[in-house]
Amino acid sequence: MSERLPPGLYIVATPIGNLSDLSPHAAAVLSAADLIAVEDSRVTAKLLSHIGVKRPMTPYHDHNADRVRPELIAQMAEKAVALVSDAGTPLISDPGYKLVRDARAAGRTVHTVAGPCAAIAALTLAGLPTDRFLFLGFLPAKSGARASAIAEVAPIKASLIFYESGPRLAAALAALRDGLGDREAAVVREISKKFEETVTGTLGELADRYADAPPRGEIVIVVGPPGEAEAPAEANVDAALREAMTRLSTSRAAAEVARSLGLPRRDVYERALALR
Ligand code: SAM
Repeated sequence: MSERLPPGLYIVATPIGNLSDLSPHAAAVLSAADLIAVEDSRVTAKLLSHIGVKRPMTPYHDHNADRVRPELIAQMAEKAVALVSDAGTPLISDPGYKLVRDARAAGRTVHTVAGPCAAIAALTLAGLPTDRFLFLGFLPAKSGARASAIAEVAPIKASLIFYESGPRLAAALAALRDGLGDREAAVVREISKKFEETVTGTLGELADRYADAPPRGEIVIVVGPPGEAEAPAEANVDAALREAMTRLSTSRAAAEVARSLGLPRRDVYERALALR
C-alpha cells in the first residue's frame, strides 16, 4: 500500500517518450494520489499500468478546465489531487497554470514533481547557447500571424525554442529564416523514442531539407541567438561580401555572409547585387 499523501495539488511531470524516464518520486505520487486530473485518460491509463497501479482519473483539458476547476480545488481540501498532461511537464504548452493560481488563492498546498520537458530536452541536444533562452510554444498557423510573432522576437538575444508538427515544419523554418536571418538552428525529433534525431544547420538549410519531406513525429525547433555582430557596420558587410564574391556566386556569397553575420539573407543579397 502507498502511504497517504497530504491533501493539495501535485503537478507531476511524466515521460515524453521513454516510460523509464518516469521518476520514482512521480511514480510514488501517482500511486498515492486520491485523484489524477488528466488530459486523456487512455494515455494516463497506459502510464499507470506501466507502474502497476489504478487510480481514479478525471478529465482536465482546454475544453472543460474553466467549468471543472472550482470543484477540483474544493476536492484538494481533503484529497491529494495530481495533475498530469499526456506527456512532459504540465502547464508547458498544456493546461494548468490557472489551476495552480486558483488552488494557491484558495489556500491549498501546491507541490511540483519536476521531470521531462521537450523544450529543455531539445535545448540540451541542439548544441546552441543555453545561457539565455526563450520558449515560445507553437507558432501561429496562419502565415501573417506567424510572421508577426517571429518579428516580435527577432531582436531578442537568446536561443529560441518552438514546438512544431511535421506537416508545418518546412513552412515554419522558412518563415523563421525570413524573419530572423539565416541563423544556426536544430530540429529535434522524437526525443527519447526509437527514432530520436537531431538535425542541425542554418534555418535555410533546414527549410530546404524538409521542404519536400515532412518528418513524422513530435518536433522541437531550437534557433540560435542573433550573431554578435548583429548590426555590423555597412562597411563590414560590404568587405565580407566582396571577399566572398571572389570565391562564390552572388547568392552563395550572400548566404554565407548573412549566416556569419546573423543578418537576413534577403537584405544581404540585395546589397550583394548592388556591389556586383
Ligand atoms: N508539456 C509538454 C512538455 O513538457 O514538453 C509539451 C506538450 S505540447 C502539447 C506537445 C509538443 O511538445 C509536441 O507537439 C512537440 O512539439 C513537443 N514534444 C513532446 N514530446 C516530444 C518528443 N518526445 N520529442 C520532440 N518533441 C516533443
